[in-house]
Amino acid sequence: MSFNKKAIGNSKKIRILMYHHISRDKKFVMKHKNLAVHIEEFKLHLEILKRLGYTTITFKDYSLFKENKINLPKKPIILTFDDGYESIYTEVFPLMEYYGMKGVIFILGDKEIKYSMWDFPAVEPQPLLNENQILELHEAGFEIGSHSLTHADLTIIPREKAWDEISRSRMLLEILLDAPVNTFAYTYGKVNPLIKELVKEAGYHFACGTYSGPPTIDKDDYEIRRILINGNQNLSSYTSKLLRPYIYFEWLWWKYKTVFYKNKITN
Ligand SMILES: [Zn+2]
Repeated sequence: MSFNKKAIGNSKKIRILMYHHISRDKKFVMKHKNLAVHIEEFKLHLEILKRLGYTTITFKDYSLFKENKINLPKKPIILTFDDGYESIYTEVFPLMEYYGMKGVIFILGDKEIKYSMWDFPAVEPQPLLNENQILELHEAGFEIGSHSLTHADLTIIPREKAWDEISRSRMLLEILLDAPVNTFAYTYGKVNPLIKELVKEAGYHFACGTYSGPPTIDKDDYEIRRILINGNQNLSSYTSKLLRPYIYFEWLWWKYKTVFYKNKITN
């Protein structure tokens, strides 16, 4: 009999990386190192993950593991991509398919927004995924999560507006995909107890911060810490970011800053 059997795996081992834009434009990457990684560099990241024996999973897989429905791979990793840049389809998707990998993409619910206007004028507006591309990625096993409706800063807008951003984006994406959308990523990584409550109320199962929350995934489903990967690190620092001491180091640094300085970390 196989029911009630406990799934095998250690959720503490799950690594969660956060990417934004992956670009082929070297000038763009040089200019916006905080936002973008060059495609050739990204390819090396995937090669490193493969050689180190990592297997990509999604939050949906993690959810199934928690329900004892699937085992976790030995070295599980979740690759997340925020904002839903078109490059996820044109650059990342073919490469990840080649490596047999899948990821999690956090996109806007408002499909009238076709460019990343929220960073303007610091960053030239970048094209975002269209509906067909999103459907194809979803079909191929990528998880689609919500990143609000319009990329608003949820912590500074009125409660009703924040509720709309959180709940209506989920509804619109579920209609588009004809499937549940259970994961949310806070815009600008900004979250407070009220926003967390609204995300729970809207029916999400998980929410990702950027640079906040406990060091392992199993401690707080609504403030899942991620490791930021951008154009600022070389390959050896990329590799060290995968190691457990680094994750605890970042967590301790965040604790120190928030507890002692009461700063909001908004990476
Ligand atoms: Zn964003």
